[in-house]
Amino acid sequence: MTTIIEYFKILTTIPHCSKEADRLMEYLAHFGKERGYEVEIDSAKNILISKGRPELCLQAHYDMVCMGKAPQIETYEEEGWLKAKDSSLGADNGMAIAMMMVLMEEGRELEFLLTSDEEIGLIGANALSFALQSKYMLNLDSEEEAEVYIGCAGGADIVATKPYAAFRDARPAYRVSVSGLPGGHSGVDIDKGIPNALKILAGYLDDKKIGLVSLEGGERRNSIPAKATAVVKSDTVLQGNEIVQVEAIESSEAILYGGDEIIALMKGFRHGVQAMNEAFKIPERSINLAIVSTTGGICRIETSARAMSAGGLAHISDETVQFFESYGYTVKIEDKYPSWKPEVNRFTEIVYESVKAVFGESRMMAIHAGLECGVISQKYPAMQLASIGPTIRYPHSTREKVGIDSVEKSFSALKRVIEAVS
Ligand SMILES: [Zn+2]
Repeated sequence: MTTIIEYFKILTTIPHCSKEADRLMEYLAHFGKERGYEVEIDSAKNILISKGRPELCLQAHYDMVCMGKAPQIETYEEEGWLKAKDSSLGADNGMAIAMMMVLMEEGRELEFLLTSDEEIGLIGANALSFALQSKYMLNLDSEEEAEVYIGCAGGADIVATKPYAAFRDARPAYRVSVSGLPGGHSGVDIDKGIPNALKILAGYLDDKKIGLVSLEGGERRNSIPAKATAVVKSDTVLQGNEIVQVEAIESSEAILYGGDEIIALMKGFRHGVQAMNEAFKIPERSINLAIVSTTGGICRIETSARAMSAGGLAHISDETVQFFESYGYTVKIEDKYPSWKPEVNRFTEIVYESVKAVFGESRMMAIHAGLECGVISQKYPAMQLASIGPTIRYPHSTREKVGIDSVEKSFSALKRVIEAVS
């Protein structure tokens, strides 16, 4: 019998970076068919492998984030961890696939759902339309062994724009910048007190008599801005401080007519956590003031809102749209994704008890970020879901590692879940 780790090592020899995972797709389809399973592949390259009358669907994504030398992966073991030399390992989410392969080898009557391109925006999950038979789905993409995930945030990106006319201004010019802040994930780090470079810049400029030439800041919609820069004109000499750098520059550029409004808007924007979820000690609703730019005289403000329920997301979206509209901005909502509202049910209890039986302890968790389970739970509303997985550290990096003992134990917990539902 081939072990989980042996199957995983086979997977590392088959390239499967996001968008370039066709060889693994074909391999897995062949693997299932050879063992008497029915295999379906949809147009988004999701794979469904099934047999008999399954009650339980196991789900994982089969793409990986390729860093360093990946897809060339050379694995090695060190102090109980499986690692890769100078590349990401792909234990996220390949270890789950290796577990599924062992279960297929055993001929288990289950559905195995392997989604495509999770790492680049839940692409496979969003396109999913298989007729699934199972009552329950266990996602295997979590990364902390004794934890059972039972909920995740939904979100939407809210983008506001407004054109500003240019206005000649002969006053001296300054470049004002904030840089070197730590940044962080706009969901899971939003309650960590990480400063937002855009908010600091707006706070600094707000009480000064200035004309705004331009303002650029933020890196990505899903990260807390680490830097922001404005060019301004002012008759008063501007002084920097420990966080804000000020530099006098030569500039004949015009200022934006009404540019003060941009600064007032940024200062008044309710960036951060708006409500906490006391049961799970995570944010219930939050919003990230992510990116601001004034290229071509059009101020464009990009934000990402998250909430743990559909009602919460509607609330924060409406509030934000109204806020921008009160300044005369045109607002668009983009890239909306559903929440998976944390709720204890028969299946989450089964998974919790199974994990506890193996690890001696367990915790039900929810996360303030989007997961495939959110998308899937909306598509299959009658199905009960939970998520577990072996301990993985530093995923998406060349330091990625997975606990070998944790793989064995998580697999024992998984087998207990299978026994309990069938
Ligand atoms: Zn993953």
